[in-house]
Amino acid sequence: MEIDPIEIELRCLFCDAVLGGKPGADKPKSGDLITCQACGQGNDFDSVLEAAKEKGVAQVEEAVGKKIAEELKKLFG
Ligand SMILES: [Zn+2]
Repeated sequence: MEIDPIEIELRCLFCDAVLGGKPGADKPKSGDLITCQACGQGNDFDSVLEAAKEKGVAQVEEAVGKKIAEELKKLFG
């Protein structure tokens, strides 16, 4: 069973804009504040990561659920 790759984006906790790192800038690390380019709020990197992880898990569950439904349809459809 193959699952499509899931892309996880870091999003602003305040306005949901995608937090893009500046090219050439250091990767954010634990404890860093990432300033949102859209709303200017400082996002705690750990919280952003946690939110992205939760979203990623939900996306994986959804993808797996869809896949299983397809497989079942093939078997019993
Ligand atoms: Zn924002």
